[in-house]
Amino acid sequence: RLAQYDRFRELSTVTADGHRVQLAINIANPQDALAVSKVGAEGIGLYRTEFLFMDRDRMPSEDEQYAAYKAAVLASGAEHPVIIRTLDVGGDKEIAYLQQAKESNPFLGYRAIRLCLGEENKAMFLTQLRAILRASQHGNVKLMYPMITTLQELRAANRLLAEAKAELRAQGESYNDQMEVGIMIEVPAAALIADQLAKEVDFFSIGTNDLVQYTMAADRMNEQVAYLTQPLHPAVLRLIDLVIRAAHGQGKWVGMCGEMAGHPDAIPVLLGLGLDEFSMSPAAVLPARELIAGLKREAMAKLAQEVLQLESAEDIENYVRAALHAR
Ligand code: PEP
Ligand code: MG
Repeated sequence: RLAQYDRFRELSTVTADGHRVQLAINIANPQDALAVSKVGAEGIGLYRTEFLFMDRDRMPSEDEQYAAYKAAVLASGAEHPVIIRTLDVGGDKEIAYLQQAKESNPFLGYRAIRLCLGEENKAMFLTQLRAILRASQHGNVKLMYPMITTLQELRAANRLLAEAKAELRAQGESYNDQMEVGIMIEVPAAALIADQLAKEVDFFSIGTNDLVQYTMAADRMNEQVAYLTQPLHPAVLRLIDLVIRAAHGQGKWVGMCGEMAGHPDAIPVLLGLGLDEFSMSPAAVLPARELIAGLKREAMAKLAQEVLQLESAEDIENYVRAALHAR
């Protein structure tokens, strides 16, 4: 199947009218980064670091983490962006040694950045931040916080980042002081205040797996409400539109690392809304690049504005398919 798309492997990702975007991959382990060159991706849009913390009986040390993050950067080819997301546990992801309390609504509970900002987890979070900072000297590393809901959480995380930098300086360890810092937009509250958040970050990455679950109020693990998991629902698209416009208004770039970013029915719309980076599973990269090469950015911008006015995900999907078929 790869052979069909082979000629796109060495190419950059450009629309038929010359608009450039980035296609990146999502990874869970350092060795997954080898897929960057295998499929000709333009970087790593999401490194889910929680897998390094799971299935073991104690926390990985700073050196262990540094080795893993550095390995991912080197395996990716070093010059490509590598977005390392800080620990995203809680929700459906459990860690034995963290003593997470039983919660009646884990997805609305103490997870991701909320847990990392807890006083009892401060040492753990600082350790991870130091490891990521140390890895930043080996390539184009960017740091990303998951589940940011308020401006105050972002500021609290950045205060700890400044603390981690000060500790490294005191120890004579080097790091890239210019490392970009971004946040995931996966909570509707964050999408709605994206204009305020955009002023204090270098980039956004929209996490649609969670953004859809929270916007539609439908647990992403519950089969009985799975029919509400609709990334193309107008409510979701309107939030995405808001986020992209808010970021661009501040001169910041926007990526997406939820499943939606690699979906052929969503890509034309996301391109039209102005998304700058699409991060997906490696297998989706070359088909996405071929699809984008056949689209005109101008026409997709018009298409995107039209679908924002439609009344259901189904209508939007049909509209996109008809528009692409009619080309
Ligand atoms: C998301 O929520 O879209 C995302 C990419 O994060 P995760 O799937 O790891 O929650
Ligand atoms: Mg998420």
